[in-house]
Amino acid sequence: MDEAASAPRCRTSPDPRALVIVDVQRDFCEGGALAVAGGAAVAAAVSEYVAANEGNYALVVASRDGHAPASDNGGHFSAAPDYVETWPPHCVLGTPGAEHQPGLHLPAGTVDVVKGEGRPAYSAFEGIDSVSGKMLEDLLADNDIDEIDVCGIATDYCVKATALDAVAAGFPTRVLTALLVGVSPGTTRAALDEMVAAGVVLFDEGLLSPGGFEGIISGEAAWTQAAAKGGT
Ligand SMILES: [Zn+2]
Repeated sequence: MDEAASAPRCRTSPDPRALVIVDVQRDFCEGGALAVAGGAAVAAAVSEYVAANEGNYALVVASRDGHAPASDNGGHFSAAPDYVETWPPHCVLGTPGAEHQPGLHLPAGTVDVVKGEGRPAYSAFEGIDSVSGKMLEDLLADNDIDEIDVCGIATDYCVKATALDAVAAGFPTRVLTALLVGVSPGTTRAALDEMVAAGVVLFDEGLLSPGGFEGIISGEAAWTQAAAKGGT
């Protein structure tokens, strides 16, 4: 056993919990190749949240879509995209669009998980640590993670896929509803419903107390709050 694996970790959280920040990248924010309106605001909100709650997480992961240059990446890119299964070229590795949005400030030690080189990959669980090459699920196991929070871009695509994979992998999973943005209202609503049906808890992180995670609310209540927030 190596030293890192045997050393006790310092945690303030009662449960080893990971935060997975999905695809808060230049190309998914205003001015990017596949911009989602509100992306830059999500970057700022996530940064503020992480700064205030870093001690509650045993592991922080930030995923990135990272596609191969000069390739359609397994049919993911199209010159005539349908915006359902095909998309304009975006997040090409080695270009600024694949980098995190400049307003996203991440703590030291954040794991950079990259997905989609040569193929479509919506879920962060399809990604690998750019340093160690390990799959996300293996990283979570290495860090004894028991529960997962998910936030980022876009609610109706990569956030949904990540949260559904987290539940499928057996992790109690929350989606932080104020740290999300979707591509369109209809698909976002459907995505939230699908996540709740799969067992994901929609969580308003505004209810998060400094000492713990007492703010968990039911999916229906969270949706009502999210809908109310979206309407203002
Ligand atoms: Zn992509």
